Amino acid sequence: MVKEAINPLSLQYEFAKRYFQEFLSRDALTPHLRPSKTPTLLMDLQGIKSRYLEVKYHFPQFKVYYAVKANDHPEVLRVLAELGSGFEVASTEELRRVLSLGVKPERVISSNPVKPPEFVEYAYRQGVNRFVVDSFAEVEKVSKVAPRSRVYVRLVVPNEGSDWPLSKKFGVDVDTALEVLLLAQDKGLVPYGLTFHVGSQCNNFRNWLIGIKKASELWQKAKARGLKLQVLNRGGGLPVKDTYEALRIEDIAYYVKGLLQKFMPSLPHELQMEPGRGIVGDQGLLVSRVIGKAKRGEENWLYVDTGVFNGLAEALGGIRYPFYLEREGELKEWTIGGVSCDSMDVVARKVALPEPEVGDYLYILSAGAYTTVYAASFNGFPQPEVLCV
Ligand SMILES: *Cc1c(COP(=O)(O)O)cnc(C)c1O
Repeated sequence: MVKEAINPLSLQYEFAKRYFQEFLSRDALTPHLRPSKTPTLLMDLQGIKSRYLEVKYHFPQFKVYYAVKANDHPEVLRVLAELGSGFEVASTEELRRVLSLGVKPERVISSNPVKPPEFVEYAYRQGVNRFVVDSFAEVEKVSKVAPRSRVYVRLVVPNEGSDWPLSKKFGVDVDTALEVLLLAQDKGLVPYGLTFHVGSQCNNFRNWLIGIKKASELWQKAKARGLKLQVLNRGGGLPVKDTYEALRIEDIAYYVKGLLQKFMPSLPHELQMEPGRGIVGDQGLLVSRVIGKAKRGEENWLYVDTGVFNGLAEALGGIRYPFYLEREGELKEWTIGGVSCDSMDVVARKVALPEPEVGDYLYILSAGAYTTVYAASFNGFPQPEVLCV
């Protein structure tokens, strides 16, 4: 028997097609697939609810603090607030949005390691009193502006295998973390616990292993120095379906549970997590339109009415969105150019699609997180409309 060659173009396209059809099985969305204005980001509120409940179900010991920066649309925040979610905020505006929904400040934490003093002051006045620190300067700042607050320290962990690594900007090693907590105690703050972030869209179990091992090491060293930590916060990083199947929540939960049993035999008083992308990422579909096409040398180019400046900024850092359009025909490989005149504005390369016509809708999947929140109106092009259904 002759083995049929596997065609990578059709593999890629079939994956996107199945993903798109899965999205279509949600009845609330189908009437909105041909909006008159594009780009439009369709957010599935029911999907967000289910996803939140799924996370709660698989991580029953953890309190969930949704990372607002992933998608701060009022409807998204409202759905999560109604389900009882906590919120992780970094700025005055994010906090203002959350509190305006009637969320109590006790349900809010701020895990940004370096915060504008005005924000800390505002948050403290509103009743938020849990802040991350990962430097001596931040301890000084928080102790002045928000005296007697509870602080938790950010540990540095590897981010390999995460599509959006962030470890180098923040986090300290175990020994420095201990010094930071001790200084916090000296300054009248409450040494509250520790946190780490494995990188966003994390598909590498090992990052959680190292995170929890380091957490355990710090926990013991802190105990030996008389500090009674209460909280272990394991940050964000839950991955969503993308151009490939991501790790499943239940597998991560099972693994993390095993790690906690092994390395933290007496469980901290409170376990926290801060999913952003993991709650909203695959609950958003960005509907855009083809505005042009061209052949340049050997390359097929497709131009769309969105781009890295008005919604797809993460394309610059390596996030690869699945694309789908409703046409039949031979698959070709496309480079997708964004709407602006900037040469940096390239949304994706080597994308398998049938040949479209100008005016066709192009569907960009997994666009629920870190899209509209990044969008500007560079070159005068509009930011996506958001439609929550
Ligand atoms: C961005 C961020 C998150 C959310 O990360 P995801 O990978 O989107 O889940 C959580 N915690 C902190 C401190 C963050 O900065």
